Amino acid sequence: MSQPRLRFAPSPTGYLHVGGARTALFNWLLAKKEQGTFILRIEDTDVARSTEESVNAIFEGMRWLGLDWNEGPFFQTERFPVYREFVEKLLAEGKAYRCYCTPEELEAKRELAMKEGRKPKYDGTCRSLRAVTPERPFAVRFRAPHDGITAFNDLVKGPISFNNEELDDLIIQRSDGTPTYNFTVVIDDATMAITTVIRGDDHVNNTPRQILLYEALGYPVPQFAHVPMILGADKTRLSKRHGATSVMAYRDMGFLPEAMVNYLVRLGWSYGDEEIFSREELVQKFSIENVGRSAGVFNPDKLLWLNAHYIKTGDPVRLADLLTPFLHERNVDTSQGPDLTMVVRTLQERSRTLVEMADGALFYFRDDFAYEEEAAAKFLKADVDPLFEELLLHLRNLDPFNQSGIEAAFKELCSARGIKLGQIGPAVRVALCGGTTSPGIYEVIEVLGKNESLKRISRALDFLRR
Ligand code: GLU
Repeated sequence: MSQPRLRFAPSPTGYLHVGGARTALFNWLLAKKEQGTFILRIEDTDVARSTEESVNAIFEGMRWLGLDWNEGPFFQTERFPVYREFVEKLLAEGKAYRCYCTPEELEAKRELAMKEGRKPKYDGTCRSLRAVTPERPFAVRFRAPHDGITAFNDLVKGPISFNNEELDDLIIQRSDGTPTYNFTVVIDDATMAITTVIRGDDHVNNTPRQILLYEALGYPVPQFAHVPMILGADKTRLSKRHGATSVMAYRDMGFLPEAMVNYLVRLGWSYGDEEIFSREELVQKFSIENVGRSAGVFNPDKLLWLNAHYIKTGDPVRLADLLTPFLHERNVDTSQGPDLTMVVRTLQERSRTLVEMADGALFYFRDDFAYEEEAAAKFLKADVDPLFEELLLHLRNLDPFNQSGIEAAFKELCSARGIKLGQIGPAVRVALCGGTTSPGIYEVIEVLGKNESLKRISRALDFLRR
C-alpha cells in the first residue's frame, strides 16, 4: 500500500473535546505507523461559531498530547477561491445547478411535505431550469442521482449503504456565496489527497453525499473509518454533565499527556487485554481493525489509575518540570527550598495526579504550617521531649546527611533508649510535616536537609513545652 494521508479536521467552535482528541490520535497513530502524512485542517467556515480562541485551544491540546502534524494547519476560510472554482466546474459540467428558490419557498414546501407525511426533500423545482437569471440570488445545488445505491465499506462499521432516493440535491454554495460543509470537506479531502478519513460516527450520514461528490468530481473515494462516540457512565453521549470533556481541563487537573493518550486510545481500541502502552508501542500496534464497533464509556477511575502509573514510573526531572506550575499556583517559590526533583521522588508513589503531588509537596516549602490538632495532641507530648533532644544531637553531627545515615541515627537512638521506632517516628512526622501522612520520614529529612529538619524538630520542641 502506498503511504496513507490522514487528517484531523476540527471545527473551532469550542475547546478540544476528548472525543475529538481521540479522533486526532487515531489519525496520528495510523500516519506514524505507516509512515504516512498527518494533516491538520481547521474547518472554520461557520464564521459565526468559529473563534480564534478555539483555534488556539485546538493547537494547544494537540501540542500537549504530542500530536504533531506534517502539513497545515489549513484553514477553510482561506480556501474559498478553491471551493468557488469547483462550484464553477460542476456548474459548467451540468453536475450542479442554480437554485432560485427563496428560503421562504423552501420552508413552505418543507411544511407541506411534512403535513402530507412525505420526507421533506427538495422537490427539484430548479433542477431542470435552463435559463440563468443573473439578477436573482441563487444557491448552487449538486445534481445528485436519484436512483441506485451508494455503498461503502466502513473500516470500523463494515458495509454501509444508502438509497440515493433518500438523498437530497445538496446545496453546495449558499446564496451568499459561501460553500457548505459537505462540499468543503470533499474538496479538501480530494485535493489534499486524503486516503483514509477517520472521524466520529456522527458523520456516517454525510458519507454517501460526499461519495457522490467525489464521483462527480472524478476523484478517488477515500476509505472511511467512523469511530463510535464516547459515552458517559449512564451510556448517554459524553457531556459536561459527566465531568470535564476538554482535554486541557485534564492537564489542569494534573493528568500527564501520556496517561491521556494511553487512556483515549484504549477507549476505542484494544490489543488483547493489555492496558499500558507507551507511545512507541501504540505506533507499532495500532490498527483500525482493532477499533471496536461499540461506543467506549469514559471511566475517570481508569484514567486516574493510568495517571498514577505514569507518575510512579515517570522521570522525576520531567515530573518536576510539569509540577512547577502547580506549585506556583499554590504560591510556592520553587527557586527556594529543597530540590524539586528530590521532592518529586518522595511523592511519586503516593500521587495519582500532579495536583495531589503539589498538595503533598507543600509542606516541604512551608515551615509555618499549623500542626493538625489531633495529630499534635496524640504525638507531640512530653515523653518525646528527651527523644527529640537526642535526635537533634544525632542529626546535627551526621555527615554526610543522607537517608542511610538518617536511618542509622534513628536505629541507634531507638536501641539506646530501648524504644521502638513507632514511639518516635509519628511524632517526628508531625514535627516535619504537620500531620500524619507524608512520605517516609528518612526521605523527608534528607530532602528537607539538615538545617530545615533541625529547625522543624526544635519548633516542635518549643510547641510541646509551651
Ligand atoms: N469538522 C467536522 C467536525 O468537527 C469533521 C469533519 C470530518 O472529519 O470529516 O465534526
